[in-house]
Amino acid sequence: MQKNKIKKGVKYCPQCGAELKAEDKFCLKCGYSFEKRKKKVNIKRLIIAIIIIIIAWAALRVITGNTIIPQPILNLITNKTAG
Ligand SMILES: [Zn+2]
Repeated sequence: MQKNKIKKGVKYCPQCGAELKAEDKFCLKCGYSFEKRKKKVNIKRLIIAIIIIIIAWAALRVITGNTIIPQPILNLITNKTAG
């Protein structure tokens, strides 16, 4: 728990100024979403998700024997994730 100078566990809506709980993800008055502010994090997550999907897809190709990616490249990808 962090001590706040203004009020404990309280934040204010940047759009309408309504007093909200610190854990609120959107404004109860105007519906402003605080999630939008975390765009940078979302992009990182998206990149990680895409990498995971590519690896999973590549692994599936190997398992099914329909590999498009050359084996040495596949080994590099799998080695990176294993370590
Ligand atoms: Zn608001």
